[in-house]
Amino acid sequence: MVVIISGKSFTQGGISIRHKLWYLLQESNLEAMIQRDASTISLWQGNIEPFQPTMMADHNATYDVVIVGGGITGLTTALLLQEAGKRCLLLEANNIGFGTTGGTTAHLNTVLDTSYDQISTNFSKEDAGLVRESVGAAISLIQQNIERFSIDCGFDYTDAYLFAQDEKQTEALDIIAKAAREEGINITLQDHLPVSFHFTKAYKFTNQAKFNPLAYIYGLARAFEHAGGVIVQDCRVIEIHNTRHIKVDTTLGEFTGMNIVYATHIPPGINLVHLRCIPYRSYALAVRLADNSYPDALIYDMQEPYHYFRTQVIDGKKYLIAGGEDHQTGHHENTEQCFRNLEAFVREHFKVKSVDYKWSSQYYEPADGLPYIGNMPGQPDNVYVATGFGGNGMVYSGVAAMVIRNIILGKHRATEKLFNPNRIKPVAGFTNFVTHNADVVKLFFGKLFPAHKLTELAELAPGEARVVNYDGHRVALYKDEAGMLHAVNPVCTHMKCEVGWNTAEKSWDCPCHGARFDAAGRCLHTPADRDLEHLDITHDLSDVEEQVHR
Ligand SMILES: Cc1cc2nc3c(=O)[nH]c(=O)nc-3n(C[C@H](O)[C@H](O)[C@H](O)COP(=O)(O)OP(=O)(O)OC[C@H]3O[C@@H](n4cnc5c(N)ncnc54)[C@H](O)[C@@H]3O)c2cc1C
Repeated sequence: MVVIISGKSFTQGGISIRHKLWYLLQESNLEAMIQRDASTISLWQGNIEPFQPTMMADHNATYDVVIVGGGITGLTTALLLQEAGKRCLLLEANNIGFGTTGGTTAHLNTVLDTSYDQISTNFSKEDAGLVRESVGAAISLIQQNIERFSIDCGFDYTDAYLFAQDEKQTEALDIIAKAAREEGINITLQDHLPVSFHFTKAYKFTNQAKFNPLAYIYGLARAFEHAGGVIVQDCRVIEIHNTRHIKVDTTLGEFTGMNIVYATHIPPGINLVHLRCIPYRSYALAVRLADNSYPDALIYDMQEPYHYFRTQVIDGKKYLIAGGEDHQTGHHENTEQCFRNLEAFVREHFKVKSVDYKWSSQYYEPADGLPYIGNMPGQPDNVYVATGFGGNGMVYSGVAAMVIRNIILGKHRATEKLFNPNRIKPVAGFTNFVTHNADVVKLFFGKLFPAHKLTELAELAPGEARVVNYDGHRVALYKDEAGMLHAVNPVCTHMKCEVGWNTAEKSWDCPCHGARFDAAGRCLHTPADRDLEHLDITHDLSDVEEQVHR
């Protein structure tokens, strides 16, 4: 039996209910699993014990830095600053690893999704060199942390293969390879691949890497606490008041900090960075192979969207991790189909014995190809953000941690300007970002909805969901497996776009900025910071009539 529950929280207020429940579960020997912002279970999530903080937060202290978010970005930043002598507090709304870090595929690349030629075009050749240097340093930082803190997370340097399958891809591949070589990346032309794909041209890149991301960040969390840092789980930051010091309002009371870092993947609230990042879902499978032909490398095709493969050993078991089928969040309802497409693709090329895990997660594409790291636009100088990592957040999280650490320590480097979130780059596509944002709906209401009418309108099978029109209103309906109807207002609490159903994750996803909510409307994912409005359904028609006559 699997019971999903996350780790305990310590605050001065005492022990949370979740904490007590955790111990009850331990006593009754039930298996516990950390939560993720999704219904599907990732390979990493299924193979880690919940993290138990050991340090108590102090509501009366003034922390040097409050870090919001317990993913790889928050934990790396917190550790670097704590080790630099700053007193740090990390606040996580759920359990550490709840966000995309628990749903990633954890390739560590210096060959990035935004190729060096694109960076040179959008920025400059010098900037491309700076990015190359920064991501190299980020992989070294991971390796050093693993060595210093003896983190057992299956880290390995490995080769990567990128291959083209037609003339157009071949042309693009040559440009990518040339630009990467100019940045000092070791690249060689190949006449064979470690997997059975047809290809027209292929290159091997050396010194890429891979690891188990949750095992790594759990090691960082322990090292952070050991250095004197404090982690509070189940603690959502609601808002901040920037007076002399920053007052941080949370679900567990108020904390105070001199600086605040939003390491929430995308910050909550409404900010310019939301207009510069587009949310995408990506899909992953961890499969066991019948013939042991696990590739000992990272492998990428060049399809649109591309597929990616690698091998990871966990507890002595090998898994092939395959990813792809990316699409903009909220733009596909039948997300089960994305898993089916990916599985069919994997089966075409590998002898699959079993599909052990399938999961999806979210990332944010930046408008000009580089992440936004530094001072949060429109906020005072002591409020920081790190977002827009695209599919390279495992390495950009390290870049973010180093850039933000340096700014807070007053060490100004060229990367501060390069990744500055306040930069304006009117590159192609940016206008779309703005119009895409104008996708806005509409309504607010609080009234009773008749169950029979909604049932008639929606005709849902158990497990299905739909947004229907009722009496001039839009109503998002979900019928659970037991046949109970749940209704929420589909207007996203972030910027009022209409949410759409995600069949695989059983969530309401916003197509504009990627906020996500569970079937009951509970907020799973920033930038929204409030739940969807719950709508009351009545089985008594007289209630509705009374409402009409009121
Ligand atoms: C399927 C997939 C595969 C990927 N593969 C790769 C890869 O191979 N290599 C690579 O480099 N990158 C990859 N990425 C991208 C990478 O995983 C992410 O960029 C990275 O994990 C982001 O980490 P983060 O710490 O910034 O955010 P997250 O891991 O999302 O952490 C943010 C945390 O903030 C918390 N939070 C949010 N709001 C609040 C609040 N108000 N108060 C307190 N806490 C809050 C959340 O609960 C969450 O735990 C992939 C992405 C996807 C979707």
